[in-house]
Amino acid sequence: MFNLERLPCPLLVTDCDGQILHTNKDFIALIASEAHESMDHYFPPASRIFLQTYAWPMLLKNGEFTEIYMQLLATDGQLIPVMTNARVSELEGKRIVIWLFFVAKERQRFEAELLKSRQHAEATAMQLAKVNAELEQANAQLSQFATKARADADQFAHLSLTDPLTALGNRRALSLSIEQWLNTASEDSLGSLLLIDIDYFKKINDTFGHSEGDRVLCELAKRLLESVRTHDSAIRFGGEEFVLWLPYTDQDGAKLTAKRVHENISEKLVADKKITVSIGISSFAAKEKEPEKFLEKLLKSADAALYEAKASGRNRTVCGKTA
Ligand code: GH3
Ligand code: MG
Ligand code: MG
Repeated sequence: MFNLERLPCPLLVTDCDGQILHTNKDFIALIASEAHESMDHYFPPASRIFLQTYAWPMLLKNGEFTEIYMQLLATDGQLIPVMTNARVSELEGKRIVIWLFFVAKERQRFEAELLKSRQHAEATAMQLAKVNAELEQANAQLSQFATKARADADQFAHLSLTDPLTALGNRRALSLSIEQWLNTASEDSLGSLLLIDIDYFKKINDTFGHSEGDRVLCELAKRLLESVRTHDSAIRFGGEEFVLWLPYTDQDGAKLTAKRVHENISEKLVADKKITVSIGISSFAAKEKEPEKFLEKLLKSADAALYEAKASGRNRTVCGKTA
C-alpha cells in the first residue's frame, strides 16, 4: 500500500482511532527495543491525555498539525521525546492519519552541530577578513616603500649629477651629456664647449666675503642658463669655472652664445662693480667616439683659449684651434 521504508524518518500510519495500520523500520527501531510483536497496536504516546485532549482534536479539526512536542512510550518503558507532524489523509475511502516523528534529542544534537559549524564558519570568515585586512595594509605599506625608494633613487640620481650650490649640472652631468651626444651624432657633426672663468673673483671674496662670492656664483649660474638653448648643458666645472656644452653647434654658433653670456652678465652683480668673465671656446666633430677622450680634447683646447683670453686682458672670448 505504502512504500514507507523509503522515507528517512520514523513514520506511522493509523486510523482515526489511533489503531496502527502501518509502520516503517525507523519507527520500529525507535520504539521497540526487541521484537516488534511486543509493540502496542495503538499509537503509543506517553501522554494519552495530551493526545486525547489536544493533539487529536486539533488534527481532526485542521486536518494536520506540525512540530508538536510529545513523548513516545518505547516497548521497554523508556520515554522518547519527539517532534511530531501529522496529517489526515484518505485511503480507499477510509480516513487515515500519517505521523512523522523527529527525535528531539537527535534534532537538538543536529542543531547544536549546525550552530557549532556556523560559529566555526563565522570565526574562520572573521579570521580571513582580518588576515585580508593585514595583507592589504602590508601591500599598501610595500607600495609606499617602493614609491619612496623610487623617489629616493631619482633624487639620488639627480643629486649625483647636480652642483649643490648653483643647482647646475656637475662634471658627471657633462660627461653624461657628451656620451649621449656621441652615441647619436654622426662623425661630421660639430659640438662646442665654452670654458668660462670669472675675472678677479678672488677679489670679490676678499672684499665682500665668501658668502657674497657664493651669491655671485649663483647669480652667474642663472645668467648662464638664460644664455643657452634648452638642449645645451650649463655646468659648474669647479670653483668659479663654468662650462657650457653646445651639441650640434659650430664655432660661429658658440661665439654667439659667448656674446650672449658677456651681455647677460654685464649688469652689476655685486655692489657697484660689474662682474666680467673670460671665455675659451673649443669646437670638434664627433669623430672621437670615446667620451672621456673627446671631452679631454675639448677641455684642452678651451683651456688654452681661456688662458689666452686672460693673458690678453680678460672680459673676452678666444676660440681655440680646431683639429
Ligand atoms: P682670474 O681673473 O685670473 O681668474 O682671477 P681669479 O681671482 O678669479 O682667480 P683665482 O684662481 O686666483 O681665484 C679663484 C677664487 O675663487 C679663489 C677661491 O677662493 C674662489 N672660489 C672657488 N670656489 C669658490 C666657492 O665655491 N665660493 C666662493 N665664494 N669662492 C670660491
Ligand atoms: Mg679660475
Ligand atoms: Mg677666475
